[in-house]
Amino acid sequence: MTIKRVVEQIFNIIQRILVKTKWKNSAMSALNANELLYEEKSLYKPPLEELQNVLQSILTRNFENVTVNVSQCPNLSASEYGLMDIGLGGCPTLLELGGAPYLLPKVQKDKLYDIKAICRKSMGEGKILAVGAGAGPYPLRNTNCEGIFNLSISAQDEIKNGSYTAKITGLQEDCLLEPIPDTETRCALLLNLYVCRGEPGPVLKINCKKRTGHMNFIECIRKGLYEKYQDKCVGLGGLFLLKNGKAHQHVMRDFSRSPIHTESELNQWLKFFEMPGTLHAVGTLVTHEHDLDLRLQHFHSFSRTKWGGHYHYDTTPDTIEYEAYFNVAERIVRVDKPKTTHKFGRD
Ligand SMILES: [Zn+2]
Repeated sequence: MTIKRVVEQIFNIIQRILVKTKWKNSAMSALNANELLYEEKSLYKPPLEELQNVLQSILTRNFENVTVNVSQCPNLSASEYGLMDIGLGGCPTLLELGGAPYLLPKVQKDKLYDIKAICRKSMGEGKILAVGAGAGPYPLRNTNCEGIFNLSISAQDEIKNGSYTAKITGLQEDCLLEPIPDTETRCALLLNLYVCRGEPGPVLKINCKKRTGHMNFIECIRKGLYEKYQDKCVGLGGLFLLKNGKAHQHVMRDFSRSPIHTESELNQWLKFFEMPGTLHAVGTLVTHEHDLDLRLQHFHSFSRTKWGGHYHYDTTPDTIEYEAYFNVAERIVRVDKPKTTHKFGRD
């Protein structure tokens, strides 16, 4: 063992001790991306034209006005969309990191990851766009927070970060949305990303207005795809705008001192808001767990105001309006899957 390796190991042990003693340190380093377990499986990729018809009929059961098209992706870096690259094309991949078992029942604060290094390892050389939903880098804010991830990594490893955290602040327990700087590429605990080359190309464009059914927008798509494709696992990712109406969304409070064992304890700990549009929601959905202990859907949204958080459903069926741009993923990369797992906290 080299001296460098010994020093690194001592440093890692000290870091773990500091975490366990709740010593808050914004310089705390992420786990080494090369030492995590990576598993990869291919996903079934139906043609976009077939998905267009499937989604049109699925969504018509839940919304009064539905249009699904296969169209060239608009420039998603325009401010009305807000992504950090222009398209959703090139090596479309779902990436799931960690999981709810690292948060519940007790937080494992050493589960801090470097998104840049993990995306690079999963995607190889070239530029990368990564968008999705996870736990924010708590050392940056000195508190637990939501992460709304939206970053591009150039072929030379330069970061353009359009990500945000959303946290609970003040005695009124208000929601505070704050941009993540380019220098910060960590997330904590769990993450669902749609990762690609950010290239232009065809996507599924979906417009829905006026909800007539009981399912949320993403659940409706996911369950409909499962009904159609059954044991073939299909995954989508990208962006949806909640353009009108409001959404029921949560923001995690700071880490709970007492363990959380049930959905009802979880819902006591989470802080829920009705957040108004326009919300820009990024994330992924997949039709089943694919023997990888996957989270089936996960979208977080940011806004141009103070709002940001985890999407559950809209609360304004008469006035709701969604506009979505999704691409179909060809594979799933599962990173640092929890060894002991449970199924709660995945709504
Ligand atoms: Zn979430």
